[in-house]
Amino acid sequence: LGGSISRALAQMANATVVDDRALTECLNEITRALVRSDVQIGAVCAMTSSVRRAVNLEALAAGTNKRRIIQQAVFAELCNMLDPGKPSFAPTKGKPNVVMFVGLQGSGKTTTCTKYARYHQGKGFKPSLVCADTFRAGAFDQLKQNATKAKIPYYGSYMESDPVKIAVEGVERFRKENSDLIIVDTSGRHKQEAALIEEMRQVAEATKPDLVIFVMDGSIGQAAFDQAQAFKQSASVGAVIVTKLDGHAKGGGALSAVAATKSPVIFIGTGEHLEDFEVFDVRPFVSRLLGMGDLSGLVNKIKDAMPADQQPEFLQKLTEGTFTLRLFYELFQNLLNTGPIGQILSMLPGFRSELMPKGHEKESQAKIKRYMTIMDSMTDAELDSTNPKLMSASRIIRIARGSGRAVKDVTDMLEEYKKMAKVCSKFKTAIPNKLDSLRRN
Ligand code: GDP
Ligand code: MG
Repeated sequence: LGGSISRALAQMANATVVDDRALTECLNEITRALVRSDVQIGAVCAMTSSVRRAVNLEALAAGTNKRRIIQQAVFAELCNMLDPGKPSFAPTKGKPNVVMFVGLQGSGKTTTCTKYARYHQGKGFKPSLVCADTFRAGAFDQLKQNATKAKIPYYGSYMESDPVKIAVEGVERFRKENSDLIIVDTSGRHKQEAALIEEMRQVAEATKPDLVIFVMDGSIGQAAFDQAQAFKQSASVGAVIVTKLDGHAKGGGALSAVAATKSPVIFIGTGEHLEDFEVFDVRPFVSRLLGMGDLSGLVNKIKDAMPADQQPEFLQKLTEGTFTLRLFYELFQNLLNTGPIGQILSMLPGFRSELMPKGHEKESQAKIKRYMTIMDSMTDAELDSTNPKLMSASRIIRIARGSGRAVKDVTDMLEEYKKMAKVCSKFKTAIPNKLDSLRRN
């Protein structure tokens, strides 16, 4: 989606005259991209006509950057579309916050409970998990396994069949143990919605949660609207987590459908592993879609994952704008690690979509290793050069021979490097401001 929209905007940038026809073509391309990602057609039309209203080409003085104005209008309208306009409850440390998870069976509640607990553990909370799913065989074992992996205290029973009783016992126990984030996982067994809602209501009445989070399988696309609406109306759902957005196939559909119910989406699940979990924030999400780079997401990840004394240096390198092959090499080295910097890099739009597309990690790794072998045959001068003309044909032939690769492999690598340099040049102006805020905190 992001690719097509950025492409449409880039075409606009290349057009010699930005007239009404060019705008219409651009908006048509954006419409197609949104419809392909399953966003409801009505919402798309509303969005494009608002962009049209916001952009009055004739009124723009000559010399203004029309593409930028259109891009800003598209950005604003996409944000509008996804923003429910009200924030959700956020737990505060030191108080016994109770958060209850609800949703249909298989939506990802149990998995997401642990992800949510682990995320807050990283923020200094003392989370705990209560398994109030007494129906599904193995429900307690699954939660136990996840909790153990994440080193989070848990409570549950193999014998007790009353979910309300377990929920109350678990919440009591963890209150006594001074847990400040008590997470209650519930069952989603019922096909009959009324019975499920009734069980949820009873557990909620007994445990008095500060927040009820509705977990929904995002792969159902636009159909998410009905489900989200039904839960919202019958339970006091305060926030939504949309799971299984790893393919992103129907992500646009699910997210816009949930947004249409005016429920805040707080996280998204992007895989089965505990770390496949992202804070959902409308503006950075839309920036990423439009290929503008998820700067605040990047900065948050850095803050979460990196020692403070390393943060500025890493950002500094990206902002210097002298994106040498040596920096490229270092970035690759880090990208191959699954550690914090690797995760940070995967948030750079260019890296994620072009170098490491989801589902092709193995191939991507092989490619990156190949690139690194090629760079191993470069001289220091070549690695540190900022002059793109330095790479003459004779140097390329020498590097190819030295690394045992074809000339085409070397030129492909250099092309990729240029693309990455372009991506990083976007961070040049935006990061210094972020750096300041990092230093202040
Ligand atoms: P519950 O029945 O609502 O508790 O759902 P579970 O947590 O047991 O998850 C059901 C299945 O969905 C499991 O196989 C999970 O591994 C999987 N799952 C959960 N979240 C995600 C996600 O974000 N992406 C993917 N691909 N799978 C997920
Ligand atoms: Mg479960």
